[in-house]
Amino acid sequence: MKADRADSCAKGAEMADSKRFEDGDAWVEIDVELCTAAGECVEICPADVYEIVDGKVTADRIGDCVECGACEGVCPTNALLKHWAW
Ligand code: SF4
Repeated sequence: MKADRADSCAKGAEMADSKRFEDGDAWVEIDVELCTAAGECVEICPADVYEIVDGKVTADRIGDCVECGACEGVCPTNALLKHWAW
């Protein structure tokens, strides 16, 4: 059972309500249910990684991330769950 749980934790893309965007080594996991399209991540990211599409944030340009860390903790609903740069 321990191996099963560890295995499932490693697969962030399969977490309930989370969506993983990745490009090469860069990745971010976002809880799309928590996202209210506040746009804080869109505003603060210098690389224009984030975009609001149909009322939810996307990170299709995660490959452009410059690892500045500015998006850490910026989301008011904590929808940015995990990010490779922080
Ligand atoms: S770490 Fe910086 S460049 Fe990368 S997604 Fe966050 S704000 Fe954008």
